[in-house]
Amino acid sequence: SEARGNNGPHSADVGPSGRKIIYDKDGKPCRSCNTLLDFQFVSKTVSPTPQSEKGNIEGSKVYKKVDPPDVEQLGRSSWTLLHTVAATYPEVPSDHQKKEMNQFMNIFSHVYPCSWCGKDFEDYIRNNAPKVDSREELGKWLCDAHNEVNEKLGKEKFNCDLWKKRWVDGWN
Ligand code: FAD
Repeated sequence: SEARGNNGPHSADVGPSGRKIIYDKDGKPCRSCNTLLDFQFVSKTVSPTPQSEKGNIEGSKVYKKVDPPDVEQLGRSSWTLLHTVAATYPEVPSDHQKKEMNQFMNIFSHVYPCSWCGKDFEDYIRNNAPKVDSREELGKWLCDAHNEVNEKLGKEKFNCDLWKKRWVDGWN
């Protein structure tokens, strides 16, 4: 029941990916809430030029014309940040560090740019309070939270016994 407008160039309920198109309050398609494919389908602001052919920003030898992230790119980067934050969380945190981590997870869910993703994460936190008593506990809690999203999206669940290999120690 997200707010949506009807003034988009190809205003639609469902995109080519089969997923519901999410609109911002101003009626424009939300880039960080939709897949790139769906966003491009309903938005006239994106040229059909592939990213790889867009070249550098005018006047720069270094920076490419990279577009803002879609829901998947934003998600991969965000999980990397979250799991890496957990991977470097103290084994024995102070009361202050526990309080801050708890606040961080709550605030993160409020400011997450894909609003419906953030809302679900907020609900998850309400029903499953962040386990902030140690790195191990936080890592497992986050792995379970990520698996909840994996399940919602029809993806394979990650084996949380391997969380440390993936995010702390590496595989060798
Ligand atoms: P990702 O799910 O991004 O995972 C990246 C890597 O993390 C994987 O390659 C794997 O190595 C590792 N990994 C996978 N599962 C786990 C786990 N359980 N524990 C530890 N490591 C793991 N997208 C939506 O479409 N709808 C949503 O409602 C939604 N909610 C989100 C909520 C949050 C808080 C975040 C951060 C992202 C959300 N996303 C959502 C994005 C979505 O979870 C994925 O990031 C996105 O679909 C890209 O998926 P991916 O297959 O590349 O791998």
